[in-house]
Amino acid sequence: MQRLRFILRRIDGKGYKVYKQIEGRYKFPNYRLFVDHVQADPFAPPSSVRARVDQDTAGFPRELFKNKPRKVALEDYLTRRFHQLAVRYSSRMGSGKSGKIEIVKPGQQVLERSAMEVNEKYVEARFYVGLPAAGRRVLGSKAQEMFFERLPAVVEGALIYGNLNPDSIREHVETVEDARYIRDHLREKGLVAFVANGSMLPRRSGVDDRPLEKGVQFRSPPSLEVSFECPNRTLRGMGIPEGVTLIVGGGYHGKSTLLNAIAMGIYDHVPGDGREFVVTVGDAVKIRAEDGRYVEGVDISSFISNLPNGRDTSHFSTENASGSTSQAANIVEALEMGSRLLLIDEDTSATNLMIRDGRMQKLVAKEKEPITPLIDMIRPLKKLGVSIILVMGGLGDYFDVGDTVIMMDSYRPKDVTASAKEIARRYGARRKPEEPREIKIGSRVPDPRSISARVGDKVRIKARGLYAISFGKETIDLSKIEQLVEPAQVKCIGELIHRLSNSPPGKTLRELLEELEEDIERRGLASMLPLRGDYAKPRKFEVAAALNRLRSLRILASEVPENR
Ligand code: ADP
Ligand code: MG
Repeated sequence: MQRLRFILRRIDGKGYKVYKQIEGRYKFPNYRLFVDHVQADPFAPPSSVRARVDQDTAGFPRELFKNKPRKVALEDYLTRRFHQLAVRYSSRMGSGKSGKIEIVKPGQQVLERSAMEVNEKYVEARFYVGLPAAGRRVLGSKAQEMFFERLPAVVEGALIYGNLNPDSIREHVETVEDARYIRDHLREKGLVAFVANGSMLPRRSGVDDRPLEKGVQFRSPPSLEVSFECPNRTLRGMGIPEGVTLIVGGGYHGKSTLLNAIAMGIYDHVPGDGREFVVTVGDAVKIRAEDGRYVEGVDISSFISNLPNGRDTSHFSTENASGSTSQAANIVEALEMGSRLLLIDEDTSATNLMIRDGRMQKLVAKEKEPITPLIDMIRPLKKLGVSIILVMGGLGDYFDVGDTVIMMDSYRPKDVTASAKEIARRYGARRKPEEPREIKIGSRVPDPRSISARVGDKVRIKARGLYAISFGKETIDLSKIEQLVEPAQVKCIGELIHRLSNSPPGKTLRELLEELEEDIERRGLASMLPLRGDYAKPRKFEVAAALNRLRSLRILASEVPENR
């Protein structure tokens, strides 16, 4: 600590580059500070630092991180607290980023992030500081204020148990543990999703993910109510069974809101989010139409075949997919990665992939229509063990294939399965079911060399918020990947797919991504990646989604579909 003070005095007023001299480690009374990387100038991304508090000082009870869900939850909590304090103690100390203290900003979801590590030995935060400058000269006095007054307040305020609210930590950890418990036990109850009574599903706005303040609380219809004895509480709510579930109801009655909450149920949420006990199986994938997307070597032939240009759809590639081909590719790619729950909203679907009604069947002969609509694909999908939750405002023909029909009525769910079945029986659909093809779930083998982020001899990976990654010479469009929630996940995806460029050829996409996932599980996210605090764990489905949209991706072969 004295050495840092000494250096800062010595370099005061000199050119910014001399800040490099503070790279290294320093011992403070309550923690060690690691200055890993110093920014080149005050306007560059801020300097990368870590603070490590030994457990002797930090004092977190073992109980709070004794298993993986608890550990992730505790780390998430500490990151949030650190972020709050970092905002409070940041100030504009000079030019550019001078005086900033930054750590990743968590949203409503509890994610595994590289920003925080808690283990038996220590608690470590990984964050960023803008080293103070006047113009491009070192501002030594301000740097001293930052390192010796402000940072200690943040680090000690966030990473020492005695300085935190123990009830609020326990609530955070137990909430996540219970949500995980439900997720782990859904399938054995024959369920794919659970929405607890009392949940608040709507969000404040399209750009504000916090709960709507005066919304209608969720209450399960009696016939669908189930209960879970979680480690820390008993919860009752609506269980959505395996099979095909339709969410119907008038426009603006809360159908999409329910489906979106279910889509987010793959993640754990902070207490008070309103969706903390809306829990979905971890392999659920939201499917939508996405015209214009890149598709490489996907077998969409069970949905679409006999294209007018004679193009082979069992190895379908395009620079510019249509609504229906993009949605078909999205389904097949999700199944390829092992998803067994598809979430589909009529609002964002290609109508012609959803249905061809009786009149249209009469006018356009089957031979002239390349598409077998989803309604006729339900049987082969079910054979593969795939469940579907569909939001449906206008397509009553689906009553024939729905196992459970939930009607949203002024934001209140009702079980209308019996009436829907009765209507289906009484008023036959005018359409003839079309003979579906078997679905083949191929496994594509990518060419690792086609995944390069190199431009000349430089590696270029840059996450652009939630919506895109600049990757080598390409831009990967993620704007339609609805189950990404934090930019830190996008950063992580960029790094992870870059690693794949070095993998041995011959492995399938799924093998590659599942090996990555196992590595992350075993070694921890942080140890897989450059030592930085701005990564958050994505699922394999979103990593695959990014790779599938990388326009340089080439598929070498598709392995013979297994009969799963
Ligand atoms: P739908 O898909 O049925 O047309 P949405 O789910 O888009 O309807 O919801 C319509 C509006 O109602 C949205 O602004 C949404 O935020 C709001 N909303 C949804 N659920 C609730 C609720 N439980 N309480 C209050 N408002 C809600
Ligand atoms: Mg809607």
